Amino acid sequence: MIADKGEYMENSMPKAIDLAALKTGGLIKQKEKDLFVIRLRTPVGKISADELDKISNISKKHGSGMLHFTVRQGIEIQGIKFDDLQTAKDELEADGIRVGACGPRFRVVTACPGEGICPNGLSPSQEVGLSLDEEFYGEEEGLDLPHKFKVTVAGCTSCCPKPQENDVGFHGQVEPELVEDDCNGCGVCEVTCKEGSIVMDDNGLPIKDDDKCIYCGDCISSCPTDAWVKKRTGLAAYAGGRWGRHPELGKLVAEFLTAEEASALIRKSLAFYKSSGKRGERLGVTINRIGFDKFKEHVL
Ligand code: SF4
Ligand code: SF4
Ligand code: SF4
Repeated sequence: MIADKGEYMENSMPKAIDLAALKTGGLIKQKEKDLFVIRLRTPVGKISADELDKISNISKKHGSGMLHFTVRQGIEIQGIKFDDLQTAKDELEADGIRVGACGPRFRVVTACPGEGICPNGLSPSQEVGLSLDEEFYGEEEGLDLPHKFKVTVAGCTSCCPKPQENDVGFHGQVEPELVEDDCNGCGVCEVTCKEGSIVMDDNGLPIKDDDKCIYCGDCISSCPTDAWVKKRTGLAAYAGGRWGRHPELGKLVAEFLTAEEASALIRKSLAFYKSSGKRGERLGVTINRIGFDKFKEHVL
């Protein structure tokens, strides 16, 4: 039996192999004897068909021929023998496919398709996610953290990639504004707004209750005369979310951030986490211990 850390037996010859260190580098021991998984780095879950072909070939050549798509949009090649790990890794990297990493660090950023693909998209979640991944993954400020640090970007308020379950998560949002002269009083927006934010007044014009508005943009997309227009767009940011044994939803930190402001929020959150987090605790636990208002003071 192979312990999490310790001696790995191969051909009855002991080899001192630190399985935890291998795992940190994306090479993960499977339950089955002698077999490993290689976790690949696929930020925002985007990969070309050519890359997938190359991964498929490596899987057939060195693994079991099976791939697994992780819940965080990663790809894992299963069933690789220890003696083939380095060769498989080298061949992947020669093909431009990067191996992922685990452990207490800034993890690969996930994102939904966003406005470039999804009809509901309000923000370019793929571009924002890739940019954040490029900026923080593997960089000094994202390494040696108290625990893992997950980030995702959703393109709209439907929040498909679950920003509130990440250490820091974003979703696109839009604030509508009425151009009264273009409104014909049809009332479609009143019916469309699921939040009850819009009510038609006695003059046949829609009145918006800002306290109820969640900035989904449904009124804009449903108006037949384009009388609702975009006043501003941006990203809402949540912090302190996590799943696992003790789930907790992240709290709203800021709204209508630009991509640059989102990046600054991550940078400051990582600095806060490094300086205030205890080993083994997620950002949300640190925030609960120190106080959400104090966290906001640090990051805004
Ligand atoms: S979060 Fe919005 S933009 Fe992203 S996939 Fe879901 S519906 Fe589409
Ligand atoms: S849907 Fe457009 S045209 Fe109809 S009431 Fe609303 S704003 Fe006016
Ligand atoms: S943006 Fe969404 S919540 Fe706000 S008024 Fe329009 S439909 Fe209602």
